[in-house]
Amino acid sequence: MSKKGEIGVTFQPKILPLCYEVAEHENMIWICDGAANVGQIGHAAGVLLTKLDKGRMCCIVAIAAGSKPHLEIAEKAKKNIVINGCGKRCASKVLEKAEKRIDYEIDVSKYLQKMPTLDIYEADVKKIAEMIIKEAKL
Ligand code: SF4
Repeated sequence: MSKKGEIGVTFQPKILPLCYEVAEHENMIWICDGAANVGQIGHAAGVLLTKLDKGRMCCIVAIAAGSKPHLEIAEKAKKNIVINGCGKRCASKVLEKAEKRIDYEIDVSKYLQKMPTLDIYEADVKKIAEMIIKEAKL
C-alpha cells in the first residue's frame, strides 16, 4: 500500500503498466502540461486519473517528436483522452497533426480562469478530474 505525502510524492511508487502493452484496453491520457495554472491543473488531473486507474497518462511530447511506439499507442488506444490547459488546444493539435483519433478533449480554461502561475489548488484538480470521468465516461 502506498503512502502519499505532498502532491505528486509517493513513498512507495505505484508501478504502472507499460503504455504499449495496455493501450488496446486502456484509456490513454494526453496532456499539454502548459506552464500556467490551467496546464498544471490538467497535468495533475491526468496524474490523479492514472492513480485512480481511470486511464494511463502517456508522453504526448513523444508523439510530437514522431516516436513510432507512441504513435502506435495512440493508434490502438481504447480511447484517447486529451487534456488541454486553454483554448489553444496544443495537446489536441499534436494528435491531430499525427492524424490520431481524439475520443474526448477538454479545455480546462473553460472552467477555471487561466493565470500565469504554477501554484494550483487540489480542489481544482479534483473538479477537473471528476468532470473528465463523467463526460468521457471513464
Ligand atoms: S493548450 Fe494552452 S496551457 Fe496548454 S500548452 Fe497550449 S498554450 Fe499552454
